[in-house]
Amino acid sequence: MEKRLIGKIGLVTGAGSGIGRAIAVRFAKEGAIVGIHYYQNKDGAEETLETVFAAGGEGIMLQADVSVAREVDEMIATLVERYGTIDVLVNNSGIGSAYSPDRVHEIDGQDWDRVIEVNLKGYMLTAKAVLPYLIDKGKGSIINISSIRGLSGAPALASYCASKGGVVLLTKEMALDYACYGIRVNCICPGFIETEMFSRYLNRQENANLARNKFAKMALLGRIGFPEEIASVCAFLASDAASFVTGIALPVDGGYVANGVREM
Ligand code: NAP
Repeated sequence: MEKRLIGKIGLVTGAGSGIGRAIAVRFAKEGAIVGIHYYQNKDGAEETLETVFAAGGEGIMLQADVSVAREVDEMIATLVERYGTIDVLVNNSGIGSAYSPDRVHEIDGQDWDRVIEVNLKGYMLTAKAVLPYLIDKGKGSIINISSIRGLSGAPALASYCASKGGVVLLTKEMALDYACYGIRVNCICPGFIETEMFSRYLNRQENANLARNKFAKMALLGRIGFPEEIASVCAFLASDAASFVTGIALPVDGGYVANGVREM
């Protein structure tokens, strides 16, 4: 494997499971030092850290609720105190609505607020805490994990679609504001990926197996993706190999968006 991230300090939020864990491990394998953030899943974060160590990497576990500014600021301060700086932020933490169907006329206001707070405000707060360091250095990379649900709507997912669509436009807006400081801001829009979040989503469908097959067929490649397939793209965007890439919202979805399917 190429070592494109040697000398870089990265932070991955939500790295105790799923896509975040795969990104943290990939970063370590490519030579980065990684901040492994978790919210509630301390055991999961420990497992990620052990995998990082086993790969010969270096990292630290950091706890925070990304929707709380004070906790985010403390997390970034701890990382910088330990390693002296930060070069790459991956905003990956995310939640779905606790309710299904999540349609506007039935929406629970508190649930809507929580999804927006974690998925959108959390990305802004974490970027806000990291940006002063990147501005000082005159370089850096921020990668936001959105979703195919941020590019087109999906039935009964109002709060999630709104939050992920917000992430796409926040990414583009930040790319404009920070290009002059040498900071690149990009966004990955995963399709259906084998994680606990995807399993929870399947279990809320009428028939989980049928739904899995349906979602697999919606991708041109005819299958569900793996967290490592998001991580490899994320490592590219974090690296200097992507030095002319900013402001993009890149579907990594096996061709789901290209397929133009309607989920009704
Ligand atoms: P996951 O394993 O459930 O990961 C979600 C992460 O979000 C967890 O690590 C969780 O931390 C963290 N989190 C939840 N609430 C938080 C809070 N208040 N503060 C900080 N962190 C919080 O699911 P995943 O599938 O890997 O999802 C990762 C990202 O990919 C999400 O943004 C998701 O929307 C996006 N995505 C996933 C898919 C898919 O098919 N899987 C598709 C498109 C986009 P703890 O576990 O430590 O509490």
